[in-house]
Amino acid sequence: MTERAPVPVTLGPRPKPTGSDTDDPRLVDRFGRVHRDLRISITDRCNLRCVYCMPEEGVVFAPRSKNLTYEELTRIARVARDLGVSRVRITGGEPLVRRGVESFVESLAALGFDDVSMTTNGIGLERRAKGLADAGLQRVNISCDSLRPERFPTIRRRGQLAPVLAAMDAAERAGLAPLKVNVVVVAGINDDEIADFAGFARSTGRIVRFIEYMPLDGAGRWDRASVVSADHIVETIAERWPLESVVPTDADPSAPATRYRFTDGVGEIGVIPTVTKPFCGTCDRLRVTADGAIRNCLFANEETPLRELIRGGAGDEQIALALRRAVNAKLPGHGINDPGFLRPARSMSMIGG
Ligand code: SAM
Ligand code: SF4
Repeated sequence: MTERAPVPVTLGPRPKPTGSDTDDPRLVDRFGRVHRDLRISITDRCNLRCVYCMPEEGVVFAPRSKNLTYEELTRIARVARDLGVSRVRITGGEPLVRRGVESFVESLAALGFDDVSMTTNGIGLERRAKGLADAGLQRVNISCDSLRPERFPTIRRRGQLAPVLAAMDAAERAGLAPLKVNVVVVAGINDDEIADFAGFARSTGRIVRFIEYMPLDGAGRWDRASVVSADHIVETIAERWPLESVVPTDADPSAPATRYRFTDGVGEIGVIPTVTKPFCGTCDRLRVTADGAIRNCLFANEETPLRELIRGGAGDEQIALALRRAVNAKLPGHGINDPGFLRPARSMSMIGG
Protein backbone atom coordinates (compact mmCIF):
# COMPACT_ATOMS: atom_id res chain seq x y z
CA MET A 1 0.00 0.00 0.00
CA THR A 2 1.32 3.44 -0.91
CA GLU A 3 0.44 6.17 1.52
CA ARG A 4 1.44 9.78 1.15
CA ALA A 5 1.87 12.33 3.88
CA PRO A 6 -1.36 14.24 4.44
CA VAL A 7 -1.67 17.41 2.42
CA PRO A 8 -2.16 20.48 4.62
CA VAL A 9 -5.62 21.97 4.51
CA THR A 10 -5.76 25.04 2.30
CA LEU A 11 -8.26 27.62 3.30
CA GLY A 12 -10.36 30.03 1.28
CA PRO A 13 -9.53 33.69 1.10
CA ARG A 14 -12.24 35.27 3.22
CA PRO A 15 -11.89 34.63 6.97
CA LYS A 16 -14.84 35.94 8.91
CA PRO A 17 -14.71 36.33 12.66
CA THR A 18 -18.44 36.09 13.33
CA GLY A 19 -20.07 34.76 10.17
CA SER A 20 -23.20 33.53 11.94
CA ASP A 21 -24.77 36.90 12.42
CA THR A 22 -23.53 38.83 9.38
CA ASP A 23 -25.72 40.17 6.58
CA ASP A 24 -24.42 37.61 4.08
CA PRO A 25 -27.48 35.45 3.39
CA ARG A 26 -25.36 32.48 2.30
CA LEU A 27 -23.98 29.74 4.51
CA VAL A 28 -20.38 30.99 4.63
CA ASP A 29 -18.01 29.74 7.29
CA ARG A 30 -15.09 31.53 8.96
CA PHE A 31 -12.75 30.34 6.21
CA GLY A 32 -14.82 31.53 3.29
CA ARG A 33 -16.30 28.17 2.34
CA VAL A 34 -19.78 28.68 0.93
CA HIS A 35 -22.05 25.72 1.71
CA ARG A 36 -24.25 24.59 -1.16
CA ASP A 37 -24.64 20.87 -0.60
CA LEU A 38 -27.01 19.36 1.97
CA ARG A 39 -26.93 15.64 2.77
CA ILE A 40 -30.17 14.53 4.36
CA SER A 41 -30.22 11.24 6.22
CA ILE A 42 -33.73 9.85 6.55
CA THR A 43 -32.97 6.80 8.67
CA ASP A 44 -30.16 5.14 10.59
CA ARG A 45 -31.59 1.70 9.72
CA CYS A 46 -30.25 -0.56 7.04
CA ASN A 47 -30.98 -3.93 5.47
CA LEU A 48 -27.24 -4.68 5.07
CA ARG A 49 -24.34 -4.77 7.52
CA CYS A 50 -21.28 -3.79 5.49
CA VAL A 51 -18.05 -4.68 7.29
CA TYR A 52 -16.66 -1.15 6.98
CA CYS A 53 -19.86 0.51 8.20
CA MET A 54 -21.95 -1.45 10.74
CA PRO A 55 -21.31 -4.22 13.25
CA GLU A 56 -22.79 -7.58 12.31
CA GLU A 57 -25.01 -7.88 15.39
CA GLY A 58 -26.38 -5.77 18.17
CA VAL A 59 -26.96 -2.51 16.33
CA VAL A 60 -29.29 -0.27 18.31
CA PHE A 61 -31.37 2.01 16.12
CA ALA A 62 -32.98 5.25 17.22
CA PRO A 63 -36.71 4.95 17.93
CA ARG A 64 -38.65 6.05 14.85
CA SER A 65 -40.36 8.79 16.88
CA LYS A 66 -36.97 10.48 17.20
CA ASN A 67 -36.66 10.78 13.45
CA LEU A 68 -37.79 13.97 11.79
CA THR A 69 -40.87 13.60 9.63
CA TYR A 70 -40.57 14.20 5.91
CA GLU A 71 -42.40 17.51 6.44
CA GLU A 72 -39.82 18.58 9.04
CA LEU A 73 -36.92 17.55 6.80
CA THR A 74 -38.48 19.35 3.85
CA ARG A 75 -38.77 22.45 5.93
CA ILE A 76 -35.07 22.36 6.81
CA ALA A 77 -34.27 21.83 3.14
CA ARG A 78 -36.40 24.83 2.18
CA VAL A 79 -34.69 27.05 4.73
CA ALA A 80 -31.30 25.78 3.52
CA ARG A 81 -32.30 26.49 -0.08
CA ASP A 82 -33.10 30.07 0.89
CA LEU A 83 -29.57 30.25 2.32
CA GLY A 84 -28.02 29.21 -0.98
CA VAL A 85 -28.02 25.40 -0.83
CA SER A 86 -28.52 24.16 -4.39
CA ARG A 87 -27.89 20.41 -4.17
CA VAL A 88 -29.51 17.84 -1.89
CA ARG A 89 -28.68 14.18 -1.47
CA ILE A 90 -30.87 11.70 0.38
CA THR A 91 -28.94 9.11 2.33
CA GLY A 92 -28.93 7.02 5.50
CA GLY A 93 -28.59 4.22 6.77
CA GLU A 94 -30.35 2.88 3.76
CA PRO A 95 -32.84 5.48 2.47
CA LEU A 96 -34.96 2.91 0.62
CA VAL A 97 -35.91 1.17 3.87
CA ARG A 98 -37.86 4.18 5.07
CA ARG A 99 -41.43 4.09 3.80
CA GLY A 100 -42.60 6.76 1.41
CA VAL A 101 -39.25 8.10 0.26
CA GLU A 102 -40.84 8.81 -3.13
CA SER A 103 -43.10 11.44 -1.54
CA PHE A 104 -40.08 13.02 0.13
CA VAL A 105 -38.25 13.16 -3.20
CA GLU A 106 -41.30 14.87 -4.66
CA SER A 107 -41.29 17.50 -1.90
CA LEU A 108 -37.59 18.17 -2.37
CA ALA A 109 -37.91 18.34 -6.14
CA ALA A 110 -40.71 20.89 -5.76
CA LEU A 111 -38.29 23.17 -3.91
CA GLY A 112 -36.36 23.68 -7.14
CA PHE A 113 -32.88 22.43 -6.24
CA ASP A 114 -30.41 22.12 -9.13
CA ASP A 115 -29.68 18.57 -8.11
CA VAL A 116 -31.68 15.99 -6.13
CA SER A 117 -29.84 12.70 -5.71
CA MET A 118 -29.66 9.64 -3.47
CA THR A 119 -26.99 7.28 -2.20
CA THR A 120 -28.30 3.75 -1.85
CA ASN A 121 -27.11 0.18 -1.56
CA GLY A 122 -29.44 -0.63 -4.44
CA ILE A 123 -31.48 -3.32 -2.68
CA GLY A 124 -35.05 -2.94 -3.97
CA LEU A 125 -34.10 -0.15 -6.35
CA GLU A 126 -34.76 -2.26 -9.43
CA ARG A 127 -38.50 -1.98 -8.96
CA ARG A 128 -38.49 1.55 -7.50
CA ALA A 129 -36.12 3.38 -9.85
CA LYS A 130 -38.83 4.57 -12.23
CA GLY A 131 -41.09 5.79 -9.43
CA LEU A 132 -38.21 7.70 -7.86
CA ALA A 133 -37.29 9.27 -11.19
CA ASP A 134 -40.94 10.19 -11.80
CA ALA A 135 -40.99 11.80 -8.34
CA GLY A 136 -38.09 14.04 -9.36
CA LEU A 137 -34.94 12.17 -8.39
CA GLN A 138 -32.20 13.08 -10.84
CA ARG A 139 -29.30 10.78 -9.99
CA VAL A 140 -28.29 7.88 -7.78
CA ASN A 141 -25.00 6.65 -6.39
CA ILE A 142 -25.15 2.91 -5.86
CA SER A 143 -22.72 1.25 -3.48
CA CYS A 144 -21.14 -1.99 -4.64
CA ASP A 145 -17.84 -3.24 -3.23
CA SER A 146 -17.28 -6.43 -5.17
CA LEU A 147 -18.08 -7.70 -8.65
CA ARG A 148 -17.64 -11.29 -7.49
CA PRO A 149 -20.95 -12.92 -6.57
CA GLU A 150 -19.33 -15.13 -3.94
CA ARG A 151 -17.46 -12.24 -2.29
CA PHE A 152 -20.18 -9.60 -2.33
CA PRO A 153 -22.16 -11.06 0.62
CA THR A 154 -19.01 -11.46 2.68
CA ILE A 155 -18.45 -7.71 2.55
CA ARG A 156 -22.05 -6.58 2.87
CA ARG A 157 -22.94 -9.54 5.10
CA ARG A 158 -26.48 -9.58 3.71
CA GLY A 159 -27.72 -9.24 0.14
CA GLN A 160 -26.41 -10.45 -3.17
CA LEU A 161 -24.63 -8.88 -6.13
CA ALA A 162 -27.21 -9.70 -8.83
CA PRO A 163 -30.02 -7.42 -7.53
CA VAL A 164 -27.55 -4.56 -7.20
CA LEU A 165 -26.40 -4.95 -10.80
CA ALA A 166 -30.05 -5.15 -11.85
CA ALA A 167 -30.70 -1.96 -9.88
CA MET A 168 -27.96 -0.20 -11.83
CA ASP A 169 -29.58 -1.21 -15.13
CA ALA A 170 -33.01 -0.12 -13.89
CA ALA A 171 -31.67 3.21 -12.66
CA GLU A 172 -30.20 3.95 -16.07
CA ARG A 173 -33.38 2.89 -17.86
CA ALA A 174 -35.27 5.30 -15.59
CA GLY A 175 -32.91 8.13 -16.58
CA LEU A 176 -31.10 8.35 -13.22
CA ALA A 177 -27.83 9.26 -14.87
CA PRO A 178 -24.91 9.58 -14.85
CA LEU A 179 -24.79 6.58 -12.59
CA LYS A 180 -22.05 6.55 -10.00
CA VAL A 181 -20.90 3.36 -8.30
CA ASN A 182 -19.34 3.77 -4.85
CA VAL A 183 -16.64 1.27 -3.89
CA VAL A 184 -15.07 1.43 -0.44
CA VAL A 185 -11.63 -0.12 -0.86
CA VAL A 186 -10.36 -2.01 2.18
CA ALA A 187 -6.94 -3.67 2.26
CA GLY A 188 -7.13 -7.44 2.11
CA ILE A 189 -10.88 -7.35 1.49
CA ASN A 190 -11.40 -6.07 -2.06
CA ASP A 191 -8.23 -4.23 -3.11
CA ASP A 192 -7.54 -7.01 -5.61
CA GLU A 193 -10.62 -5.83 -7.54
CA ILE A 194 -9.42 -2.29 -8.29
CA ALA A 195 -8.59 -3.09 -11.92
CA ASP A 196 -11.80 -5.12 -12.31
CA PHE A 197 -13.84 -2.11 -11.21
CA ALA A 198 -11.90 0.11 -13.62
CA GLY A 199 -12.76 -2.37 -16.38
CA PHE A 200 -16.39 -2.22 -15.23
CA ALA A 201 -16.33 1.59 -15.56
CA ARG A 202 -14.96 1.22 -19.08
CA SER A 203 -17.43 -1.43 -20.21
CA THR A 204 -20.55 0.16 -18.68
CA GLY A 205 -19.87 3.91 -18.85
CA ARG A 206 -20.69 4.14 -15.13
CA ILE A 207 -18.49 6.39 -13.01
CA VAL A 208 -16.83 4.18 -10.43
CA ARG A 209 -15.72 6.11 -7.36
CA PHE A 210 -13.16 4.46 -5.15
CA ILE A 211 -13.56 5.65 -1.55
CA GLU A 212 -10.80 5.47 1.04
CA TYR A 213 -11.86 3.57 4.14
CA MET A 214 -12.63 6.14 6.86
CA PRO A 215 -12.57 5.80 10.66
CA LEU A 216 -16.36 5.78 10.84
CA ASP A 217 -17.16 2.07 11.07
CA GLY A 218 -19.64 1.16 13.76
CA ALA A 219 -17.49 -1.67 15.12
CA GLY A 220 -14.52 0.65 15.71
CA ARG A 221 -12.13 -1.69 13.87
CA TRP A 222 -10.70 0.85 11.42
CA ASP A 223 -6.96 1.10 11.36
CA ARG A 224 -4.55 2.86 9.05
CA ALA A 225 -3.20 -0.40 7.64
CA SER A 226 -6.66 -1.12 6.20
CA VAL A 227 -6.69 2.09 4.19
CA VAL A 228 -5.84 1.71 0.52
CA SER A 229 -4.64 5.10 -0.60
CA ALA A 230 -6.07 6.97 -3.56
CA ASP A 231 -2.54 7.12 -5.02
CA HIS A 232 -2.27 3.35 -4.94
CA ILE A 233 -5.69 2.99 -6.55
CA VAL A 234 -4.84 5.40 -9.36
CA GLU A 235 -1.42 3.81 -9.93
CA THR A 236 -2.94 0.33 -10.08
CA ILE A 237 -5.45 1.38 -12.70
CA ALA A 238 -3.01 3.48 -14.72
CA GLU A 239 -0.63 0.53 -15.06
CA ARG A 240 -3.28 -1.11 -17.19
CA TRP A 241 -5.17 1.83 -18.68
CA PRO A 242 -3.48 5.27 -18.72
CA LEU A 243 -5.46 7.99 -16.98
CA GLU A 244 -5.56 11.77 -17.15
CA SER A 245 -7.00 14.23 -14.63
CA VAL A 246 -10.37 15.81 -15.22
CA VAL A 247 -10.29 19.41 -14.08
CA PRO A 248 -13.38 20.23 -12.02
CA THR A 249 -15.76 22.61 -13.71
CA ASP A 250 -16.86 25.86 -12.10
CA ALA A 251 -20.21 24.18 -11.56
CA ASP A 252 -18.72 21.63 -9.19
CA PRO A 253 -15.37 22.79 -7.80
CA SER A 254 -16.03 21.25 -4.39
CA ALA A 255 -16.94 17.70 -5.44
CA PRO A 256 -15.22 15.22 -3.09
CA ALA A 257 -13.96 12.92 -5.84
CA THR A 258 -10.74 13.58 -7.71
CA ARG A 259 -11.73 12.68 -11.25
CA TYR A 260 -9.75 10.87 -13.93
CA ARG A 261 -10.64 9.83 -17.45
CA PHE A 262 -9.07 7.06 -19.44
CA THR A 263 -6.78 8.63 -22.02
CA ASP A 264 -8.36 6.56 -24.80
CA GLY A 265 -11.64 8.35 -24.02
CA VAL A 266 -13.44 5.24 -22.74
CA GLY A 267 -14.94 6.20 -19.39
CA GLU A 268 -14.11 7.89 -16.11
CA ILE A 269 -13.31 7.01 -12.51
CA GLY A 270 -13.02 9.02 -9.31
CA VAL A 271 -11.14 8.60 -6.05
CA ILE A 272 -12.24 10.03 -2.72
CA PRO A 273 -9.02 10.49 -0.76
CA THR A 274 -10.50 11.57 2.57
CA VAL A 275 -7.74 9.99 4.67
CA THR A 276 -4.55 10.41 2.67
CA LYS A 277 -5.30 13.73 0.92
CA PRO A 278 -8.00 15.58 2.80
CA PHE A 279 -9.97 18.02 0.67
CA CYS A 280 -11.53 19.98 3.54
CA GLY A 281 -10.38 23.30 2.08
CA THR A 282 -13.06 23.12 -0.62
CA CYS A 283 -15.77 21.37 1.39
CA ASP A 284 -19.24 22.83 0.84
CA ARG A 285 -21.20 20.06 2.57
CA LEU A 286 -23.58 20.19 5.48
CA ARG A 287 -25.49 17.26 6.91
CA VAL A 288 -28.72 16.69 8.76
CA THR A 289 -29.11 13.37 10.57
CA ALA A 290 -32.36 11.43 10.61
CA ASP A 291 -32.97 12.58 14.19
CA GLY A 292 -32.51 16.20 13.21
CA ALA A 293 -28.96 17.14 14.16
CA ILE A 294 -27.02 19.46 11.91
CA ARG A 295 -23.45 18.28 11.37
CA ASN A 296 -20.93 20.54 9.69
CA CYS A 297 -18.49 17.67 9.04
CA LEU A 298 -18.63 13.86 8.87
CA PHE A 299 -16.00 13.83 11.62
CA ALA A 300 -17.39 16.61 13.81
CA ASN A 301 -17.60 15.95 17.53
CA GLU A 302 -20.22 18.61 17.98
CA GLU A 303 -23.58 18.98 16.31
CA THR A 304 -26.57 21.29 16.44
CA PRO A 305 -29.82 19.59 17.41
CA LEU A 306 -32.80 20.99 15.50
CA ARG A 307 -35.55 18.56 16.42
CA GLU A 308 -36.59 20.18 19.68
CA LEU A 309 -36.28 23.62 18.14
CA ILE A 310 -38.60 22.66 15.30
CA ARG A 311 -41.04 20.77 17.51
CA GLY A 312 -41.03 23.66 19.95
CA GLY A 313 -42.52 25.93 17.30
CA ALA A 314 -39.42 27.73 16.03
CA GLY A 315 -39.85 30.05 13.07
CA ASP A 316 -37.88 29.69 9.84
CA GLU A 317 -35.54 32.48 10.89
CA GLN A 318 -34.53 30.51 14.00
CA ILE A 319 -33.81 27.43 11.89
CA ALA A 320 -31.81 29.61 9.50
CA LEU A 321 -29.80 31.04 12.37
CA ALA A 322 -29.08 27.54 13.71
CA LEU A 323 -27.86 26.47 10.26
CA ARG A 324 -25.65 29.53 9.96
CA ARG A 325 -24.20 29.04 13.41
CA ALA A 326 -23.46 25.38 12.67
CA VAL A 327 -21.62 26.40 9.49
CA ASN A 328 -19.81 29.15 11.32
CA ALA A 329 -18.51 26.65 13.87
CA LYS A 330 -16.99 24.40 11.20
CA LEU A 331 -13.33 23.62 11.76
CA PRO A 332 -10.78 24.07 8.97
CA GLY A 333 -10.24 20.33 8.59
CA HIS A 334 -11.41 16.95 9.84
CA GLY A 335 -8.20 16.22 11.72
CA ILE A 336 -8.08 12.47 10.95
CA ASN A 337 -4.31 12.70 10.67
CA ASP A 338 -3.79 14.74 13.84
CA PRO A 339 -2.34 12.88 16.83
CA GLY A 340 -5.29 13.90 19.00
CA PHE A 341 -7.99 12.84 16.52
CA LEU A 342 -11.12 11.58 18.25
CA ARG A 343 -13.61 9.53 16.27
CA PRO A 344 -17.09 11.02 16.40
CA ALA A 345 -19.58 9.23 18.62
CA ARG A 346 -21.79 8.51 15.62
CA SER A 347 -20.67 6.09 12.93
CA MET A 348 -21.27 6.50 9.19
CA SER A 349 -24.72 4.88 9.06
CA MET A 350 -25.92 7.10 11.92
CA ILE A 351 -24.66 10.25 10.22
CA GLY A 352 -25.43 9.72 6.56
CA GLY A 353 -22.52 9.40 4.17
N1 SAM B 1 -26.83 2.71 2.55
C1 SAM B 1 -26.44 3.55 1.46
C2 SAM B 1 -25.23 3.02 0.76
O1 SAM B 1 -24.60 2.10 1.27
O2 SAM B 1 -24.92 3.55 -0.30
C3 SAM B 1 -26.24 4.99 1.87
C4 SAM B 1 -25.56 5.27 3.18
S1 SAM B 1 -23.86 4.80 3.24
C5 SAM B 1 -23.46 5.24 4.87
C6 SAM B 1 -23.12 6.05 2.23
C7 SAM B 1 -21.76 5.72 1.67
O3 SAM B 1 -20.85 5.64 2.74
C8 SAM B 1 -21.70 4.40 0.93
O4 SAM B 1 -21.14 4.58 -0.35
C9 SAM B 1 -20.81 3.56 1.79
O5 SAM B 1 -20.10 2.63 1.02
C10 SAM B 1 -19.93 4.61 2.44
N2 SAM B 1 -19.29 4.19 3.69
C11 SAM B 1 -19.84 3.58 4.75
N3 SAM B 1 -18.93 3.38 5.72
C12 SAM B 1 -17.76 3.88 5.27
C13 SAM B 1 -16.44 3.97 5.80
N4 SAM B 1 -16.13 3.52 7.02
N5 SAM B 1 -15.49 4.55 5.04
C14 SAM B 1 -15.77 5.02 3.81
N6 SAM B 1 -17.00 4.97 3.25
C15 SAM B 1 -17.98 4.40 3.97
FE1 SF4 C 1 -26.00 -0.06 5.18
FE2 SF4 C 1 -24.92 1.64 3.45
FE3 SF4 C 1 -23.75 1.17 5.85
FE4 SF4 C 1 -23.74 -0.74 4.04
S1 SF4 C 1 -22.76 1.27 3.85
S2 SF4 C 1 -24.28 -0.99 6.21
S3 SF4 C 1 -25.64 -0.43 3.00
S4 SF4 C 1 -25.70 2.15 5.51
